[in-house]
Amino acid sequence: MKVSPLCRAVFSCTVLLSTAAFSQGRNRPPMPPNPLPYDLLLKGGHLIDDKNRIDAISDVGIKDGKVAAVGADLKTSDALKTIDVKGLYVSPGLIDLHTHVYTGTGERGSYAGDESVYPDGFTLRNGVTTIVDAGSSGWKNFDDFKDKIIDRSKTRVLAELNIVGSGMRGGKYEDNLDDMDGKLTGDKAKLFPGVIVGVKSAHFTGPEWKPYDQAVIAGNIANIPVMIDYGANRVERPLIQLVSSHLRPGDIYTHCFSGLRGEQDQKTGGPSEALLIMRKRGIYCDVGHGGGSFAWTVAAPILKAGYKPDSISTDLHIGSMNNGMKDILNVADKMMVIGETTQEVIAQMTWHPAREIKQEQLGNLSVGAIADVAVLSMETGNYGFVDMYNTKMMGTKKLVCELTLKDGKVVYDLNGISADMWDATEHSADQRQSRRWTTFNERPFGATHGQRFPASVPVGSIPAPTTPK
Ligand SMILES: [Zn+2]
Repeated sequence: MKVSPLCRAVFSCTVLLSTAAFSQGRNRPPMPPNPLPYDLLLKGGHLIDDKNRIDAISDVGIKDGKVAAVGADLKTSDALKTIDVKGLYVSPGLIDLHTHVYTGTGERGSYAGDESVYPDGFTLRNGVTTIVDAGSSGWKNFDDFKDKIIDRSKTRVLAELNIVGSGMRGGKYEDNLDDMDGKLTGDKAKLFPGVIVGVKSAHFTGPEWKPYDQAVIAGNIANIPVMIDYGANRVERPLIQLVSSHLRPGDIYTHCFSGLRGEQDQKTGGPSEALLIMRKRGIYCDVGHGGGSFAWTVAAPILKAGYKPDSISTDLHIGSMNNGMKDILNVADKMMVIGETTQEVIAQMTWHPAREIKQEQLGNLSVGAIADVAVLSMETGNYGFVDMYNTKMMGTKKLVCELTLKDGKVVYDLNGISADMWDATEHSADQRQSRRWTTFNERPFGATHGQRFPASVPVGSIPAPTTPK
């Protein structure tokens, strides 16, 4: 029988598609139950969990995407898979409170478009498992943002809704007082509890208080915090008045170390009266580094005076991703250069931001918590850390993300600490169960492995596949 080219093409496409479907797990046979206490055990790491006041060598056992046990000497025989994390820090998955990820709309010069980035390329490789998009969308385009990004990302993407109904699309929209409706914004947020976790005001250039007061109205309706990027510095609305009488305790002031709107005392270089009032009232100080919101001349003296941020965030977007900001670990490194400890910066990327957005199921590794985990190494050397003015401060420590778990499974592994050697003849863990602890493909081992490379691995020398107990 003659096979037409079209038919051949359809056949090979079908084979390709079914192979792809298999490797993505759709056609795989169901996994056998795991009778052991853990799917995955992280062994011997230095656990830093601010919520539970843990700063010690401790193992973490994980099952069904949740933390099953935390403690010294958890048994490897109780887990399907053990990863040795000795010499590394084990942290709850990092939370980045201020990012811009509403891309894919095709709109130029807009944070609801080309100024934003797709989250997964910037998050998991830095230990970040949860991000908050800070106001790229408003109540009018949140559904589109949710469809395009939130529902399609591996990263847990949450949102602060812009008080501007049209979102962060440039001055024409962001200065339009008629598009700032606290009631409509709050009502929209109430429809998505745990996803819309805040209200954002940003980039406003006018003298009015309306954006901030409407944001607070929305925050009160949905019982969520407001995050303020204070826009243009206007004498008509001084920072001290914003934090004294417009914002509520629990609201968030981002770009805390920009120095552009009265954050710094001009005589001492330390925190201004406004920053001190913020702290006294329980308004959070968030870094929000971005492309133009972190200056050494501001941050260093304020830190030296003992004023530390509540949370470290990136303000990730196309304008910050490749300049001084780089990624959240680089921002954390900077805070260590000017006096913070590793324990403090980890707290400011985990439990603190979880509390700020009232998502206390995140940012900790209590038993029963979601098993989002960042495993970090501390490199030492000579490093330059660059601020918004392209000036640098030198440092000796650099955090590097070695391994990231999301919902209990490996989603990033820099040096293959979860992987077996390429020429191993047996799997270190039952490969039928691998989907319980990793999202990566597992190549068959044993005889099947040998058959793929008969020239390099003599088939007769390899034992038959075994079924691990
Ligand atoms: Zn921003």
